[in-house]
Amino acid sequence: MNDGLQSFITQEILNYIQDYTISRKLHNLWEEPLVGFADAKDPLFLKLKDAVSPSHSMPHDLLEDAQTVIVYFLPFDKAIPKQNRHHRHASIEWAQAYIETNRLIVHINKGLSDRLRQKGFKTKSMPPTHNFDQQKLISDWSHKHIAYVAGLGKFGIHNLLITDRGCCGRLGSIVTNMEISVTKRTNREYCLHKYNRTCKICVKKCVTEALQADRFDRHKCYRMLLENSEIFQDQGLADVCGKCISIVPCSFHNPVIRLQRD
Ligand code: SF4
Ligand code: SF4
Repeated sequence: MNDGLQSFITQEILNYIQDYTISRKLHNLWEEPLVGFADAKDPLFLKLKDAVSPSHSMPHDLLEDAQTVIVYFLPFDKAIPKQNRHHRHASIEWAQAYIETNRLIVHINKGLSDRLRQKGFKTKSMPPTHNFDQQKLISDWSHKHIAYVAGLGKFGIHNLLITDRGCCGRLGSIVTNMEISVTKRTNREYCLHKYNRTCKICVKKCVTEALQADRFDRHKCYRMLLENSEIFQDQGLADVCGKCISIVPCSFHNPVIRLQRD
């Protein structure tokens, strides 16, 4: 791991979070980010064509001489999932955090890209969301899968990535031709159900039964997201729900590590 570069990028992201929070007059919406680096030539990227979609982009499709994919996770402040834990529809705090985080990711990507370009490197920033096929509901650049390749965590049965800071937050990514040492992927498990067949709290919390331990109906889930986006249309585009991750064992950390420590 290139500690110096990791600290530099983490600090840059923290600076952009601070700028953004001040300029938008927000209360603190985010906790400290996590950053991971993937080798653009990692063979796992090719496997995303099977795991996600045959049309999933490779880093080299986005930047011809790509060397590294920088991925970061912005964990929400804990108050946000706490406010979203009750009722069928998403809370306004959850919807606003989603909208603000999407804007923040654009701000971070622009700032980081400018900094890397000043150092003589090329970049390609990826949009935070809404770049998916509306029929299949599958993206050609799946941030959560890219984040897995970049060693930021592992999937839970809720189909989201659980990081060392949990799963309540959002992911951003940038492809660059700067060479950076990769983040090592871990073999350890992050989901209690995958680890010892317990938990399934996310399944019990799903408000539509779209989520089951062994399957996920993305269309049923998306209908719920659209229902919420109608409710919050005056805020911006908030196709959200998040009930399955709002206060569950993996919301804020890797629960398997906690279990092993106890
Ligand atoms: S809530 Fe429990 S079962 Fe669901 S993903 Fe998190 S740890 Fe796994
Ligand atoms: S986002 Fe909502 S509808 Fe979709 S799986 Fe989670 S709880 Fe269920």
